[in-house]
Amino acid sequence: MRDGNCIFCKIANGEIPSATVFEDEDFRVILDLGPASKGHALILPKHHFKDLCEADPAVAAKILPLAGKVGQAMIKELRASGFNVVQNNGASAGQTVFHLHVHVIPRYDGGPLMVSWVPGGATAEELAETAEAIRRGI
Ligand code: 5GP
Ligand code: ZN
Repeated sequence: MRDGNCIFCKIANGEIPSATVFEDEDFRVILDLGPASKGHALILPKHHFKDLCEADPAVAAKILPLAGKVGQAMIKELRASGFNVVQNNGASAGQTVFHLHVHVIPRYDGGPLMVSWVPGGATAEELAETAEAIRRGI
């Protein structure tokens, strides 16, 4: 399924050119136009899913192994020393393009801080109550 108004549908299916690093029947992996670091890549499913909640589980299951391959290539060929795998769902989580995609961001020694947060705190009771709420929804 494609969404005619979706830029990532057009890129994933080759209607709009992109710097492609990998392609198979399910995915196109491209370089981000606004890279957080050199080599920042986006894994785009060829089918339109708004986000992870809507994704076909069979397609979703292939994403993490592919992210691992792309990250390893960054280490080998770009001399990255690590990589982050980031996936945003919903505007509050920073999603700006509503076609499921996964960021693979190479990291270099001495590079800027990113993908980080300030650890908060929670009591054992709060953790238990929150865990129970999420368990109910799964
Ligand atoms: P999000 O914030 O939705 O997780 O990430 C969207 C990403 O897509 C951003 O990092 C942004 O730079 C990238 N992006 C947006 N439009 C385009 C485009 O037309 N081409 C490419 N290659 N990247 C894009
Ligand atoms: Zn789309």
